[in-house]
Amino acid sequence: MARITGAVCRLCRREGMKLFLKGARCDTDKCALKRREQVPGMHAYRRGKLTDYGLHLREKQKVKHYYGLLERQFRRYFKEAQRAKGNTGAALMSLLESRLDNIVHRLGFGVSRAQARQMIRHGHITVNGRRVDIPSYLCRPGDAIAVKDRPKVLERVQANLAEFKRDVPDFLQLTPGPRPEGLVVRSPGIEDVSIPVQVQLIVEFCSR
Ligand code: SF4
Repeated sequence: MARITGAVCRLCRREGMKLFLKGARCDTDKCALKRREQVPGMHAYRRGKLTDYGLHLREKQKVKHYYGLLERQFRRYFKEAQRAKGNTGAALMSLLESRLDNIVHRLGFGVSRAQARQMIRHGHITVNGRRVDIPSYLCRPGDAIAVKDRPKVLERVQANLAEFKRDVPDFLQLTPGPRPEGLVVRSPGIEDVSIPVQVQLIVEFCSR
């Protein structure tokens, strides 16, 4: 399955904000955004004010990279959100937040979405007691997310939980213990996204 490879800190520098793509490192002084704030690229200093198109594009790119998606995957979610009842922007963010890799990360089982995705692909995660190895699996309210009973993986998850400094969002409930478990309490909304997003700009950009 296609995924973003390469220097991810450049993506944060491009957007001018932390996208938390590197796990624990993002919360330390080693964060590249702290050391080099300018936009990446040789002629970054020449770039002037963003155009209206640029503003819309950057907002879409920011969300796409935050969830570790490629363009085609992102467009697929947008189409699905357009088909859903109600506000398209809200439906889009709800879909993205419901992805299993996002939920595994936000519970703290994986320090980054990339690590969460790898854990899922390697079959370490169960949903309602059954192994699910698809990172894009959409979780629903009532779903119980757990880690398979494998000592090395559980050890890694316990270390991640101890290291992870961000709060578990309201739509999830974490039960710590020797075999930690998470519960999806309700469908996520825009308010549950941990970075500021102007979703209207994304809707306008993708509707062109
Ligand atoms: Fe972004 Fe994390 Fe790199 Fe900082 S350390 S620039 S937050 S990926």
